[in-house]
Amino acid sequence: MQHLELIPDTGAALAAINEAHASGLFNAKQTMQVIVSERDHNHSLNVVTVTISSACPKCGGPRGKPAMQRYCEEGWFYSVHNWTNPCGHVDYYPDVLREARGLMAQRSA
Ligand SMILES: [Zn+2]
Repeated sequence: MQHLELIPDTGAALAAINEAHASGLFNAKQTMQVIVSERDHNHSLNVVTVTISSACPKCGGPRGKPAMQRYCEEGWFYSVHNWTNPCGHVDYYPDVLREARGLMAQRSA
């Protein structure tokens, strides 16, 4: 991605900002690793470690500190991170996974 100050054209600069917002990476300079659960196409639960921004994607405020929490589903125990954002916005795992995939795609691009 270009640095915004290096883009002389305001329209192009705005487009770059919009693109960053759209990909959810505007605040992704600082990242954190979290362990979350996801359902695969067989509806079985997987525990995955992903990298996400350490800032809330909705307001840019800092995300809460992740803490491991143990769950049991159909006799299978697993632990995933839970966190509470100080700003009050709730991170749902599907959104977190989408953000992590976007981040990964940008880094490998
Ligand atoms: Zn927020």
